[in-house]
Amino acid sequence: MDTIKDLGEFGFIEKIKTIFEQPDNVIGIGDDCAVIPMGEANLLVTVDTLIENVHFFSDHPMDKLANKALNVNISDIIACGGTPQWAFLSISLNPMMQISKLDIFLDHLHKQCARHNIYLIGGNTTKDDKLSINITLIGKTQKPILRSGAKASQDVFVTGKIGCTACGFLALKNKTLTNSECIERFLAPQARIDLIDKIKPYATCMIDISDGLLQDANHICRASKIGMEIFLEQVKLCECDNLGDIDKITFGEDYELLFCADRKYREHILAIGDVSLIGQTNDSQKLTMYHNGNIIKPDKYGFTHF
Ligand code: ADP
Ligand code: MG
Repeated sequence: MDTIKDLGEFGFIEKIKTIFEQPDNVIGIGDDCAVIPMGEANLLVTVDTLIENVHFFSDHPMDKLANKALNVNISDIIACGGTPQWAFLSISLNPMMQISKLDIFLDHLHKQCARHNIYLIGGNTTKDDKLSINITLIGKTQKPILRSGAKASQDVFVTGKIGCTACGFLALKNKTLTNSECIERFLAPQARIDLIDKIKPYATCMIDISDGLLQDANHICRASKIGMEIFLEQVKLCECDNLGDIDKITFGEDYELLFCADRKYREHILAIGDVSLIGQTNDSQKLTMYHNGNIIKPDKYGFTHF
């Protein structure tokens, strides 16, 4: 194992975890946010970086980029059952970037922060050839919902439609036409703030889908030490035909919410709307996916950086 590519993203995170001991009273590396007890409540902290030509194309509209940079972080805060409150913006700028472009970005970021009652209270500025945007978001919750909270014999649910971002990304990359909803989902994803308050009372565990449905389901299995059966035909997938079903569930960046709940709440949860029952947990410690009764074994579970 000579290179970072051999180690992989999750191997790297594991390495950090073995070097840096985590304090007992804090939920540190391993969930969507760090959870820091603070009096009656808990602070939630998350950070995500978007890099030009890695996470977005150079012609990504600046208003939508602001939206994306904030929403990918809001998504992690709500996945832990919290409310976002404070943001830090670290940004690398190319000196030749037009000020008018930056103004659109800032104006839109400001509007989005105002809309969600988030105060931008700090950051850092550096020079680079490529634009990169890193937002640290801090939120609060009375009761954190963790990846580790699932038990065997629970229902598995996911919000919304999976794979739209993947189809939108591919269409932009190959300059082909596709459903404009998919392009919008890639350019300006929306965290599911609209559903979180209805889901929160029932969810025993939760994760937002950034790495792909399967990989993020696997994160829940590992953190909760449970197994899961997912029935692909029950997952509401993007209808576009420019990608296969497996690509749709392994691309990531859906920013939908995947959560588990006791079976007795099934009807209440389905009545919320825009939520699908896609599987069951068990005690096998393995993730198994079925399509119409047949086991499917994809080559990979989802996105990793290296
Ligand atoms: P998400 O997809 O929810 O943003 P990630 O997969 O990026 O989560 O990260 C998983 C966990 O690993 C998180 O708890 C995150 O804080 C931690 N993590 C990721 N990269 C690093 C790093 N470079 N140093 C310390 N912790 C990290
Ligand atoms: Mg996340």
